[in-house]
Amino acid sequence: HAKNRGGHNYQFFNDSMNKNAVRRLQVENQLRLALRNKHIQVMYQPKVSLRNYEFVGLEALVRLNIPGTGVINPSEFIPLAEETGLIIEMGEQVLRQTCRDMRQWVEQGTVQGRVAVNLSAKQFVQPDLTKRIMAILNEEKLAPEYLELEITEGVVMEDPERAIEIMTELNQCGIHLALDDFGTGYSSLAYLKRFPIQTLKIDKAFVDDINGADRDRNMVASIVAMAHNMGLDVVAEGVVNTAQASTLSRLSCEFAQGYLFAEPLSSEAFVQHISVPASIH
Ligand code: C2E
Ligand code: MG
Ligand code: MG
Ligand code: MG
Repeated sequence: HAKNRGGHNYQFFNDSMNKNAVRRLQVENQLRLALRNKHIQVMYQPKVSLRNYEFVGLEALVRLNIPGTGVINPSEFIPLAEETGLIIEMGEQVLRQTCRDMRQWVEQGTVQGRVAVNLSAKQFVQPDLTKRIMAILNEEKLAPEYLELEITEGVVMEDPERAIEIMTELNQCGIHLALDDFGTGYSSLAYLKRFPIQTLKIDKAFVDDINGADRDRNMVASIVAMAHNMGLDVVAEGVVNTAQASTLSRLSCEFAQGYLFAEPLSSEAFVQHISVPASIH
């Protein structure tokens, strides 16, 4: 059909809006293909203590690896996966792969702490979410105590009362919860106090300028103090230099992730990375 249009076809591909549409279709097809073949890739980023830079846990981050094209990042395919509903299947494959890797590492004594998995909006509101997660943990023989789920402020604030119910259910199963990208949404403090969470992750945006404007530093200091008053752990995201790490440490933020310590790594590279003492990274 397209062939018959000849010149129009050429014009079609020169139009940038249509190019975006074509790219979207390509990414969607690749995502479907990867899900069908169970080729979804999971990378792992270490979480470290800011006191001694030692490894304390990890976060699983999904990648879509397309043969011949390279790696597509979540910022491009997660919104698309949400819109098409593919996110449910994707999320389950990521969780399963993560549990499988983690179980092996725990058994071998390679890894301590918890592995964090990000939950999307659509996954979070599934009526049988807890049951599905527990089934995967059970099938992969990983104790729920090794799992932490990261949920963004935006997602929980859509329906905070319902979110509290879901989070309570997950907590009662032994799964820890972290509020991700904190500071970018608009959690009311009244709700924050009621959310059954264990960890607050300070968004990279606050870390970027922590040694610049007083305002950003004061903001982080307040968030850390507030979180500690509520008995929460605090993790800073996106730490890229030692100046940021030492300021965060001075502000009593105890944990961090970021390229300074490690980028997200393949499971093989991750094991290599954490088997080397922190001082010589
Ligand atoms: P997030 O959960 O806040 O993850 C942190 C993001 O920051 C990751 O990007 C990570 O690679 C990146 N990052 C870590 N350290 C640094 C740093 O020092 N500098 C910079 N510039 N970036 C850093 P990534 O992997 O591209 O993921 C982006 C977002 O996509 C995640 O943000 C999360 O919201 C979502 N995501 C990733 N994996 C999954 C998944 O399996 N399921 C769902 N539902 N969402 C996911
Ligand atoms: Mg996260
Ligand atoms: Mg985050
Ligand atoms: Mg983020």
